[in-house]
Amino acid sequence: MDIRKIGVIGAGQMGNGIAHVAALSGIDVVLHDLSEDRIRSGLATINGNMSRQLSKNLITEEERHNALAKIVAGPKLEDFGDCDMVIEAATENEQVKIKIFQAVVPMLRADAILASNTSSISITRLASTTDRPERFIGIHFMNPVPVMQLVELIRGIATEDDTFESSRAFVARLGKTIAVAEDFPAFIVNRILLPMINEAIYTLYEGVGSVEAIDTGMRLGANHPMGPLQLADFIGLDTCLSVMQVLYEGLADSKYRPCPLLVKYVEAGWLGRKTQRGFYDYRGERPVPTR
Ligand code: NAD
Repeated sequence: MDIRKIGVIGAGQMGNGIAHVAALSGIDVVLHDLSEDRIRSGLATINGNMSRQLSKNLITEEERHNALAKIVAGPKLEDFGDCDMVIEAATENEQVKIKIFQAVVPMLRADAILASNTSSISITRLASTTDRPERFIGIHFMNPVPVMQLVELIRGIATEDDTFESSRAFVARLGKTIAVAEDFPAFIVNRILLPMINEAIYTLYEGVGSVEAIDTGMRLGANHPMGPLQLADFIGLDTCLSVMQVLYEGLADSKYRPCPLLVKYVEAGWLGRKTQRGFYDYRGERPVPTR
């Protein structure tokens, strides 16, 4: 199936990024979130990010103009009625996602593909809560979507070939590179990345190094473009914790236990950049370590 129109559920950092790259590739997008305010804020972010791309000559004014015209707000799930594919990019919480699928499925065309951008949750299990496990797939974008090249494609046990091939063609149209991952907790990238971030948080928790020492260590000592704590703030500490919990429960191995300090930051609502505070405080001119 040729994907010409998509719905995106969740206008947060991932959802607005997915809408952004799809629209720039000429695909029509309906953007949905819990409230009109959140949709508006997602649209404003897209506008700002496209303006930044324009100022760096990565896109032209005409491309920006045409792409923005491709994205419409969809405050009601009924707005997805003529979409070829709907991508769920809401909060990383299984119950939240299942509720969304239950509500959206009756609105979809029978042949529409339903995809999840989950970072870690079983695609097979999510698919089994819908009426279309064979038309369900994991399409896992990386953050920030307009910048990052990779997309992981994850088949559930029931995913049909046509769903997989249509999704593969859709991702290729966005100009992204695909890594195919099997449906095991956190797939490939996060299976490797999140335990590294969790270990960095343990390194802080045990007093081996300060926030600054740990991030400088990994930037200059391992040539990572961002330190692991800076990256954790960028991903969102709630998302990091959810992924570690999925790894811990899904693989039943104590090496994946989430660091208590990560739990503490999430309990405080210090979720990283999106709430202005995490391992760094972003409220001033420059980020300042919070420990
Ligand atoms: P976010 O907190 O920035 O955005 C989530 C959005 O979902 C919010 O705007 C929220 O209002 C909305 N939402 C929550 N419940 C909803 C509902 N019932 N209906 C509609 N919208 C609802 O989170 P994010 O970083 O964009 O993550 C979204 C998804 O993408 C998660 O599954 C996450 O694991 C995954 N992901 C995140 C990253 C990352 O680096 N942050 C990378 C890849 C994938």
